[in-house]
This record gives sequence, C-alpha cells and structure tokens, in this order.
Amino acid sequence: MKEKARCLIIGSGPAGYTAAIYTSRANLNPILYSGMEPGGQLTTTTEVENFPGYPEGISGPEMMEQLKTQAQRFGADIRNGIITSADLKSNPKKITVDGQTEIEAETVIIATGATAKYLGLADEAKYAGMGVSACATCDGFFYRKKPVAVVGGGDTACEEATYLAGLASKVYLIVRKDFLRASKVMQERVLNDPKIEVLFNCNTAGLFGENGVEGAHIVRHMGEANEEKFDINIQGFFLAIGHKPNTDLFKGQLDLNEVGYIVTKPGTPKTNIEGVFAAGDVADPIYRQAITAAGSGCQAAIEAERYLSEKGL
Ligand code: NDP
Repeated sequence: MKEKARCLIIGSGPAGYTAAIYTSRANLNPILYSGMEPGGQLTTTTEVENFPGYPEGISGPEMMEQLKTQAQRFGADIRNGIITSADLKSNPKKITVDGQTEIEAETVIIATGATAKYLGLADEAKYAGMGVSACATCDGFFYRKKPVAVVGGGDTACEEATYLAGLASKVYLIVRKDFLRASKVMQERVLNDPKIEVLFNCNTAGLFGENGVEGAHIVRHMGEANEEKFDINIQGFFLAIGHKPNTDLFKGQLDLNEVGYIVTKPGTPKTNIEGVFAAGDVADPIYRQAITAAGSGCQAAIEAERYLSEKGL
C-alpha cells in the first residue's frame, strides 16, 4: 500500500506530539506514527512537576494523553505502527511502516527519542520480566514490601530509588564511582532516605535466583587491591544508567554523533538532509527534558512548514 504525506512525524513523545499540534494547525495534514512506546519515555515516569503550566504537577501518561488529544483536535492523523525502513535521500522521502505501508513524505520529523541502556550482563536477559526492569515507575508496583536495587548514580537513578523507597522494603543504589553525579537536591533525597543504602564503588557481576531474581553478586573496588565481593538479597533489579538514541534506522543517511544522536545545524532542528528534521531526545544528549523536547518539536514543525512553502509543495 502506498500513501502520500506532506509531513510525516515519527515518534509520540512531547517532541512528536508538539510537532503534530503545530503542523496540523498549519494545515500540513501530518501523519504521526507512535512507534514502539506510544507516548514515549514520559509514560514510564510518575509525576512531571517541571513542565510549565501544571502548578500541581501532572502524571506522565496523563500529560501524553492530553498532548495526543490536543494534536487530534486539529486533525493530526495519529497511528500505531513502527517504521521499518527509511529512504531519506530520495525526494519525496520513502518511509515503510510495519514492513508494508510505504509513505511518500515531503517532510519527515524524527522524534524517536532514546531508550534505556542495560549493563550487558547475560543475567539481565535471563531474568527479563522476572525481576529485571529499566523502569521503576512501570514495574515498581510488583516489588511492594520487597528489597530491590537500582543501578546508576545520575538523576534517573536517584529519582527511581526515591520512588521505589516508597514501595519496597529496602532499596540498594549501586553506584560504580565514589560519588553520585545527580543534582544536589536529588542526592540529598537519596542520602536522607532511611530506606536507601548507597553502595559506592560497586559493580554488579551477576544475578541469581531460582524462578526470578533473588539476589545480585556485587564487587566493590573491582580490579583493585582492596576488591571485595558480596551478595545482596533483592527481588527487583532496576537499570538507570542512561539512554541510547533511537537512530539505528537512519545510520548512513543522517549525520550522527559518536554515540548515535542526530546532529542538527546549531540552534535549529535541521539535519544534513533537506526536509528532514530532528526533535527531542533523539538529537539532544544534553537537556533531555519534556519542555525542551516540546520546544524542538515546535521548531521542527515551523521549519517543515517553511520548507514546504519555499519548495511550493
Ligand atoms: P546519566 O548519564 O546522567 O547518568 C548515568 C549514570 O549511570 C551515571 O551515574 C553513570 O555512572 C551510570 N552508569 C553508566 N553506565 C554504567 C555501567 N555500565 N555500570 C554502572 N553504572 C553506569 O543518565 P540519567 O539517565 O540519570 O540522566 C540523563 C539526563 O537526564 C541528565 O542530564 C539528567 O540530569 C536528566 N534527568 C533529569 C531529571 C529531573 O530533572 N527530574 C530526572 C532524570 C534525568 P558514572 O557517573 O560513573 O558515569
């Protein structure tokens, strides 16, 4: 099946939905594909307290529903589907959805976001869905009154540890360095929470358990003279060690940086290919906030509109 679009938006986080709001209001009749995780990363968070306009805060999933409804109100065509290939160099650009539908799009806005990283231990795969998770807010509920661990020392790890402390019986925070890199306020929350024990200078060597995670093998001061090995008893093992941008589909076409983020012309959402724009975390290794993603979605929409009118499309 073939279809034509003036503007195709890939991704349904704050960047994608904001691009959809702006492009639909500009009569570009955008089609948006939601991708693997409809609503994006914010659907895996609890309370969003820092998005302007919500003085009492709002839950991540609720906010994403509202953005979706707002885009649909102006006619954005929001669909479930995963982009399986993209030829961005042709004009119009050719995008295949679910290996079947081919969309010929004059402009493409890439807002595919970023995905949680894992340590790479075989045990993470072995216990997937059986104690291993990269989303405390999605899965924390299953560990009420049970001991758990969170890996990482950044804001995500501290946020997740604090969240889990409200549910679990005990939370270990496994930090590979001797400090937390999270912001001061997040660090203080963690360090002052009696339910959280921070294991500094520690790495995870593996997990164990019969029918699910029952514990983790920890190595303190790995490879050093004072190396020490011990086990902790946990039933949930949560990864919070950063993210990988979702750009595999565009390798070899778009300019990407050394870790895979889309490189845009400074201060704009323009990629190295005319008519292709990037918005949100997929092009932002630095700020990675809902509000900055929404802002760049708006910029991408305005640039798509300008491109179409300049080309008379
Ligand atoms: P970060 O990159 O900031 O932190 C990743 C953490 O994981 C670091 O402590 C890092 O250790 C650790 N880590 C990475 N790889 C491994 C590994 N293989 N083994 C063990 N530990 C590892 O990612 P975050 O997801 O925490 O945050 C990303 C961005 O989002 C930041 O800019 C953050 O400020 C922001 N953010 C803001 C929030 C808020 O304001 N509410 C909430 C969440 C995130 P090391 O320090 O040794 O490198």
